[in-house]
Amino acid sequence: MSSTRTALVVGGGIAGPVAALALQKAGVEATVYEAYASTADGVGGSLAIAPNGQEALEVVGARAAAEAGSIPLHSSALSFGGREVELPQLAGLPPMRLVRRGELYRALHDLATSQGVRTEYGKRLVGAEEDAGGVTARFADGTSARADVLIGADGVHSVVRKLIDPGAPDPGYTGVLGFEGVADHRVRREPGSQTFTFGRRAYYLYWPRPDGRTGWGANLPQDKPMPLAAAREVPAEEWLRLLRETYGDDDPGGDLMRSTPAENLQVSGSLHILPHVPRWHTGRMVLVGDAVHAPSNSSGQGASLAVESAVELARCLRDIPDPSSAFDAYERSRRPRVEKVAARAAKTNTLKAPGPVARVLTPVLMRVLLKTALDPEKAFGAEQRYRIDWDAPVRAAESAAT
Ligand SMILES: Cc1cc2nc3c(=O)[nH]c(=O)nc-3n(C[C@H](O)[C@H](O)[C@H](O)COP(=O)(O)OP(=O)(O)OC[C@H]3O[C@@H](n4cnc5c(N)ncnc54)[C@H](O)[C@@H]3O)c2cc1C
Repeated sequence: MSSTRTALVVGGGIAGPVAALALQKAGVEATVYEAYASTADGVGGSLAIAPNGQEALEVVGARAAAEAGSIPLHSSALSFGGREVELPQLAGLPPMRLVRRGELYRALHDLATSQGVRTEYGKRLVGAEEDAGGVTARFADGTSARADVLIGADGVHSVVRKLIDPGAPDPGYTGVLGFEGVADHRVRREPGSQTFTFGRRAYYLYWPRPDGRTGWGANLPQDKPMPLAAAREVPAEEWLRLLRETYGDDDPGGDLMRSTPAENLQVSGSLHILPHVPRWHTGRMVLVGDAVHAPSNSSGQGASLAVESAVELARCLRDIPDPSSAFDAYERSRRPRVEKVAARAAKTNTLKAPGPVARVLTPVLMRVLLKTALDPEKAFGAEQRYRIDWDAPVRAAESAAT
């Protein structure tokens, strides 16, 4: 039985509200502290929730809310060198769900609020001190808050990660900038499909929308990383000019870029990966979601793993009295799984931003990627069939998940 009664959850993105809901289910009172003035401030673009993430959302009763308004993705294709190959789907699983990031944040926040979870906005964490009796968080507005534990759900550039370990790694740059758009162009495929395309010069993906237009995401190789704020200072027309130049000879990439109006362009800046964080916790502070395991957008699993970890953390705090031992059990359970997903995504990232050696090997690597994707059970079975058994008791030395 837990001795943890209260928790400060830093970050109101995806992992934060889900952790708060799961903690509440575990009997721990959690308050969420979000840096921005509103939960959907400055967030755009889409992400796909995988079947494992959907199941984890189900544990906290958030699946229906998260999936409201989403697009089910029933089929996928891989396109390269002018060839398009239909990818087999994993049998017996529900489709991935494409959601708008801002809508997902909002839905999780609203659900948490309706379940009695308090969220405080405009609370940017700048420091924290722990002692034998609890942990005190300090915010940029001069206020502070205290609880038994502090959960860092503050994303890939986490402040909590550095508070836990000043030597903690910064996220790695994947070598690509992220963009998303909606084109006034109808592609040949049907809504409910997504196509991953290695174009002549760069990677992109696209999905036909029910309204006849086409959504797309592009990963533009660039040597130097570019923070989001700097990327957003560049006029959208300027980015579109570069995107049209890069994808102009691709089918349908060229049409997609040419028919995307500037107001439909979303800029994500550098895309990151955080494959290994040596320290996940102290005695009273712990990390969850992208703050500790950002597998990069190439995995299609960042949000789903964030939700899983939030639920698993609450389960461990529910059953293990001492927070530090609960965090140990949580790390043991999660680390092997999340690092394996990041390792898979890192291989795809090599193809998206190939260095001189990888460029020579690209045809070989593409064949390997295709072979992998054609055996979905081997490639994604363990990732997508994973389930958390909420009711099973956690033992202090519970064995690692795979
Ligand atoms: C272009 C792109 C495409 C992606 N596609 C997919 C996909 O298809 N499928 C998928 O599963 N994942 C995808 N991801 C990854 C996914 O978005 C992340 O894994 C997920 O958002 C992680 O959730 P989180 O709650 O840990 O972090 P975030 O969603 O980043 O939330 C962190 C929150 O913490 C707040 N915060 C930060 N610092 C502080 C502070 N000091 N004090 C208080 N609050 C703070 C932030 O404002 C934010 O609200 C994609 C990512 C990108 C960039």
